[in-house]
Amino acid sequence: MAQRSPNEVLTPDDATFTQLCETLARGAERWRTPADWPREALATCAEAGVFRWFLPVADGGLGWSEADQTRGYLRLAAADLTTTFIITQFIGACRRIAGSDNPEPARRWLARLLTGDAFGTVGISHLTTSRRHLRTPVLRVTEDPSGEGFRLSGVAPWVTGAIHADVIVLAGTLEDGRELLAAVPTDHPAMRRGDGAELVALSASCTDQVELDDYLVTPHMVIAGPRVDVMRAGVGAGTGGLQTSTLAIGLARAAVEYLTQEGVRRQELAPVAQRLAAEVEELEGRLVAAATQGVCDANAIRGGANRLVMRTTQAAMTAAKGAGFVQGHPVGRWCREALFFLVWSCPQPVATEQLCELAGIDTKNPSEHLA
Ligand SMILES: Cc1cc2nc3c(=O)[nH]c(=O)nc-3n(C[C@H](O)[C@H](O)[C@H](O)COP(=O)(O)OP(=O)(O)OC[C@H]3O[C@@H](n4cnc5c(N)ncnc54)[C@H](O)[C@@H]3O)c2cc1C
Repeated sequence: MAQRSPNEVLTPDDATFTQLCETLARGAERWRTPADWPREALATCAEAGVFRWFLPVADGGLGWSEADQTRGYLRLAAADLTTTFIITQFIGACRRIAGSDNPEPARRWLARLLTGDAFGTVGISHLTTSRRHLRTPVLRVTEDPSGEGFRLSGVAPWVTGAIHADVIVLAGTLEDGRELLAAVPTDHPAMRRGDGAELVALSASCTDQVELDDYLVTPHMVIAGPRVDVMRAGVGAGTGGLQTSTLAIGLARAAVEYLTQEGVRRQELAPVAQRLAAEVEELEGRLVAAATQGVCDANAIRGGANRLVMRTTQAAMTAAKGAGFVQGHPVGRWCREALFFLVWSCPQPVATEQLCELAGIDTKNPSEHLA
C-alpha cells in the first residue's frame, strides 16, 4: 500500500484540513501580481491530495460527494481565494479530460495532473459568457484537409494560468455552428500565451488570452465534438452552476470571521458580526443542500452570494477603517476580490437583477424599466 503523506486531507473533517487552510491563509497576501504565481500554495494543495477530492475513485480521485466538495471549496476560498480560484479552473480541465469518451487525453494527462506534476486549465467561456455579442466566433475550428483532425485559429480571451499550463482545454466553433472541445498541449509554436494581465484582483492567477494560429488538433486531443452544445456533453460538463457561488460565500466567511474577531474587543461590532455570520451560515446551508440534492435555483444562490460577499467585505472594511485601506491588510484584498464575482461567469439574469438593484428598479418587473 502506498505511504500516506502526513499532510493529506482525506475527508473535510480531517484535522490536517485546518492546518492546510492556516498555511494557505498565511501565504495569501503574497499572491499579488502576475509575477507571483502561487506555485508553493498549489504544491502544498497537491501534497495534501486536494486535487483528488474532485474526481471519482475510478479516475484516481478520492470521490468526495458533491456536498463535501462544496465544503472543501468553501474553506479553501476563505483561506486563499487566488489559489482556490486557480484550482477550480485546473479541476475544470481535469474533469473534462477524465469525462471524455475518448480515453487518449486522460491516458496522456490525468495521472500527472493529479499529482501536480503537470498543470492544466480551461479556455471555454467564449462559448458561454464571453464575447457572445460578436457575430463571428473568437476561436474558429476547421476540419483539416487530411481528414485527420482539426485546425484551431483565433483567441481564447480568458485562460487562467495559461503561461504555466502544460495543457489547455479549449473550446472552438465550426462554421456550421458545431463546437469542439480539445485538450491542447501548450508546447507548440502555433500557440501564443499571455504572461497574465494586471487585474483588479487575482492578478497572480496569471489570467490572459491565448492565441492560436492554425494549430493542428489531432484526434487523440479531442475531448468532445464536433457537435452542437459541446459544453453539455460528457461528465464534468455544466458551466456556471454552484462553484462560483461557493467561492463567493467562502470569501464572505473570511470577512465575517474578521468582524467576529474584532467584535471581541469592540462591542459595537458584535451584533453586526453575529447578524452577518447567521446570513453566511444560512446561505452555506442552502448551497450544500443544493449541491447534495442536485436540484436548485443556481441563479438565486449566485445572486444571494454576490450580494453577501459585497456586504460582508464592505462591512469588514468599514470596521477596519483606514488601516484596512492600506496595502497588505487582508480586508482591502477581500474587497477587491469581491468585485470578481460581479463578472466571473455571471449568468445574464443575475447580472440584470444586480443592475436593477443598483439602479433602484423593481427586480420583479425589470422589462418595465429596461428597454
Ligand atoms: C480573473 C478572471 C479569470 C477568468 N478565468 C477564466 C478561465 O480560466 N477560463 C475561462 O474559460 N474563462 C475565464 N474567465 C472568463 C469569465 O468566466 C467570463 O466569461 C468573463 O468574465 C466575461 O467577461 P467578458 O469581458 O469576456 O464579457 P463580454 O460579454 O465579452 O464583454 C466584454 C465587453 O464587450 C462589450 N459588450 C458586452 N455585451 C455586449 C452587447 N450585448 N452588445 C455590445 N457590446 C457588448 C462591453 O463593452 C464589454 O465590456 C475569467 C474571467 C476573469 C475576470
